[in-house]
This record gives sequence, C-alpha cells and structure tokens, in this order.
Amino acid sequence: MVNKKDSTKKSGGNKFLLQAPKGMHDILPSAWGWWEKVEKSVKELADFYSFAKIETPILEHAQLFEKGVGAETDIVEKEMYLLKTKGGDVLALRPECTAAVMRAYMEHRLGQQMQPRRLYYEGPMFRHENPQSGRYREFHQVGFEILGGQNDPLYDAQLILVFHELFKSLKIKNLRLHLNSIGCRICRPLYKKQLQNYYRDYEKDLCKNCERRLKTNILRLLDCKEEKCLELKKNAPNFLDKLCHGCTTHFKGVLEYLDELQITYVLDNQLVRGLDYYSRTVFEFILTDGSFGTLAGGGRYDYLAELLGGHQIPAVGCAMGMERVVETMRIQEIPPLSRPAKKVFLVHVGDMAKRKSFKFAHDLFEAGIPVREALGKESLKAQMKMANREGMKLALILGQKEIFEHNIIIRDLETGLQESVAMDKAVKEIKERLKGK
Ligand code: AMP
Repeated sequence: MVNKKDSTKKSGGNKFLLQAPKGMHDILPSAWGWWEKVEKSVKELADFYSFAKIETPILEHAQLFEKGVGAETDIVEKEMYLLKTKGGDVLALRPECTAAVMRAYMEHRLGQQMQPRRLYYEGPMFRHENPQSGRYREFHQVGFEILGGQNDPLYDAQLILVFHELFKSLKIKNLRLHLNSIGCRICRPLYKKQLQNYYRDYEKDLCKNCERRLKTNILRLLDCKEEKCLELKKNAPNFLDKLCHGCTTHFKGVLEYLDELQITYVLDNQLVRGLDYYSRTVFEFILTDGSFGTLAGGGRYDYLAELLGGHQIPAVGCAMGMERVVETMRIQEIPPLSRPAKKVFLVHVGDMAKRKSFKFAHDLFEAGIPVREALGKESLKAQMKMANREGMKLALILGQKEIFEHNIIIRDLETGLQESVAMDKAVKEIKERLKGK
C-alpha cells in the first residue's frame, strides 16, 4: 500500500498527482544544456588524459560497500538503500562508485592490460540522507580513478589536475582546493591514539554523534560541523606533524607537482573525508561562497583492494557531484551549452501537404539540413508566426497547389522574397540559399 501523503500532491481539483520520491528529482529539458556542457568537458578531458569509460551496475552486493567504504561510516551505517532478492542476496543501490570500480578492476583483471589503468564513470548514486539544498537521495557523480602501477604522487597530482582543468573549462569561480594527508597503516594508528587522548578530556562536551565516533571512527571527529565540536577541533593535534617518513615524502611529492603546475591549494589538517578506504592524500574542491560546500572530493585509496579481498593495489580517485556543479553554474550565470540554431521552417497547408511535408522533412534530415516543423498545427498563420518568432531564415511552404505542381515555395524570412522551386531541385536550392545565412 502506497503512503498517499508521501507520494502525491493535491492538484487543481480534488485529484492527487503522484510525485517523485523525496530527495529524488527529474532533470528537465530546460536543465540539459548545463548537464551536456559538463559532460562534454568531462569527455574531452578524459580523452586527452587517456581515461577510458567504465560503467558498473547500479545494484551491487551490499558487502562491497560494507567492506570497502566501511561498516561504521554514515554512508553504510545509515544511508544505504538495501533490498533482498528472491534468492536471498542483499543488494545495495550504490552509494558511491569507487568500490565498484575497484571490484570491476579486480574481477576483470584490468590491471593485466595496462598499468596504471585510468578509468572514469558517470551515473546515479543513492544515499538516504536528509534532503536539502545541494543534497539529494539520488544524485549523479562523475568520477576519475587511476588504479594500479606505482604508488606515485604524480598520479595524485594528475587527478587533481584533471578536476582543476574541468572546473577551469567550465569557468566555475570561487573554488578552493583543500588538501591533507591522512597517513598510512604505520602513522595513522599513532595519530588516532593522540586524537583519542586529546578528545577524551572533552568527551562530555562532544555532540552525540562524535561521542559515539570517539570509539568507532575517531578521525570523523575532525569532520563534524556541530558548533561545540568545531571549537574543540581548533586545538586538536595536527596530522601533518605526525606523518611517518614515507607519507611525508609522498605528500611533499604531491605538493611539488602541484607547485610545478601552479595549482594553488590550502593545506587543511582537518580534512579527513568520510570513507574508510582513504590513505595518504585526501582533497576536496570547496566553494568559498559557502553555497554547497564541496563540489568534488577524493584521495588515495591504496588499501581498498585488500579490504575487498585482493592484494594491495595503489589507487587514487575523485568524484564530483553533477547536481551541485550544474546548480553552481546557474548561480554563477555560466551559460549552458547552446545548440546550433535551426534555420529552416517547414510550413504545410492541408492534409495532403501534411503527409508530403512529413516525408520532405525526412529528405532534409538525410541531406543534413536541420529543419523545424509544426506538423501538428494546421493554420498557416500560426506556423508562420512560429517560424518568425524562432528567428528562422527560410520558410518552406507546401500547400495544395504546390503538391499538384510538384513545387515548394522557398520564402526568405529576412527579405520577405519568395519563389516557387521544383520539388526535385529543392534540397540543392535550400543548401545554396543557406550559405552565408
Ligand atoms: P563523496 O562521494 O561523498 O566524496 O562526494 C563526492 C561529491 O559528490 C561531493 O563533493 C558532492 O558534490 C557530491 N555529493 C555527495 N553526496 C551528495 C548528495 N547527497 N547530493 C548531491 N551531491 C552529493
């Protein structure tokens, strides 16, 4: 039984219309210009930097995220959409895609073909969060991943470069790159211990979530946005001071490459990212005007393959939220992708002309001439009005008389001059007249 209150909205009369589920949204035709602009830039950058596309299923075994992302993370603990199949498997609507890409990389031995493997994906993710501005339950991510090969800081920098270039090509302003290192298996446990010692004295001053995380996921205390926890964070020990030699050298390497590329960044010792699989470099592209916070985030995840039952595979990746990027473009008045305007309008008068026009529009399509028609409309006046309103250059008019004489009228909408042309010569003539228009 559907909960009427949740899924419907009262419309004009007494009827209730079904609505999209809470936190899920339609991407309407009016928004696609921005989506396509982002997708175009993503594709161009992917081609340039040799990232191949990968698409993984929207449903995965829930275990993939429990093991990979971490059972104690918010995403897995609270936000995953789960379903049980008839066969008894527990599947999850993917809350993120990095774990799935690593699964696919190992399952299909993609590392055997090329090292490292550069992959990118785009598609919907699902998290049962509290919807608010820029936060949905179904949202779309574009992600780039570099898997395998060496644990080289160059790859961290290259990945940051790709997103830096992407935002630059989209002309997004007020974006700052935040960067941190969260160490490795050697130095992280020591740091966590220090953090625990520091926070233990303030246990009763923490928010409920952090009180719990103190025992389960101490690093996340640095992530907390609650007022009282923000204050305590200020004096918490700094991870960058505690990194082991290997992690310090790696992080320095990343910074040197970024300096070489003249990419500016902010060292942010409180950036930890929410997922368990990260190690060493973590980063986020954050809007400085405070509108949606983070547009993209990522980092190195050298242990993910092991968490999923494989051997160690060095890897680094980053995911960007499409909705937030598109919304930012709108707010910053960045124009959408514009389609080349159509220049030819096909006008018909009468039933027979309608049939012939239907066919002639197809002939024009085959000749590579984009054409606009209004085959559902009957009045000549209404059709001509549309052609003028949409700034067309030529109107092609087919009426009863033209059908009998195997002609078509070509009217220049700029000069108002018109001429009757034989149907079998019309395509060539139209092409000729469009030159220079
Ligand atoms: P994450 O996978 O949490 O690191 O998120 C990467 C990016 O995805 C973020 O920087 C956001 O731009 C976007 N994102 C994450 N969660 C949501 C959400 N619930 N709604 C919209 N965008 C999101």
